[in-house]
Amino acid sequence: MADIIYTYAGSAYMNITNKCPCSCIFCIRSNGDGLGSAETLWHKKDPSFEEIKAEIDAFDFSPYNEVVFCGYGEPTQALDNLIETAKYLKEKHGLKIRLNSNGLSDLINSKPTAQLLEGIVDCISISLNAPDSESYQRVTRSKFGEKAYPALLKFAEECKKYIPSVKFTVVDVITPEEIEKCKEISEKMGIPLRIRKWIK
Ligand code: SF4
Repeated sequence: MADIIYTYAGSAYMNITNKCPCSCIFCIRSNGDGLGSAETLWHKKDPSFEEIKAEIDAFDFSPYNEVVFCGYGEPTQALDNLIETAKYLKEKHGLKIRLNSNGLSDLINSKPTAQLLEGIVDCISISLNAPDSESYQRVTRSKFGEKAYPALLKFAEECKKYIPSVKFTVVDVITPEEIEKCKEISEKMGIPLRIRKWIK
């Protein structure tokens, strides 16, 4: 069975789904089955809340004050489990919740979703990936096509109303000119940008 909770570089992570509407050119999933303490992050079937809860109850969270939802899939693909699990982690262990997301939750769930994360997610890191729809599609190969990029920007704007800390990331697979344009978008939207190194 795949690990639902794993540790990596001193942090604890939740791997609650393998579903994702993208196929990013830099996706860590193509590097191997496991990461950090996890032998495999590939579920045979996405876990139910009961299965997630059982792993939480068996895990020692005492060294951690935060848990990150980030695994081999986009956490908002399992939105109900994400919300229920984050609530449980907060109530039971008083943990801060960080969500790493591709920002396509509204398209994935066919409804506005940022408000549903209010009081549940403390910090969200959204993969901006590119400065425009065309380059975004080149990098992410999203199944939503040209709808994806504007939906991501709208979701990020909405998140500012409901989540205390919102950040953008790009991976340095795009050109320096594109990174500069991403910085401009971040500044205009008032969302800090982190540039990540591509882990090959
Ligand atoms: S959005 Fe994340 S999980 Fe999905 S393909 Fe891209 S990097 Fe991989």
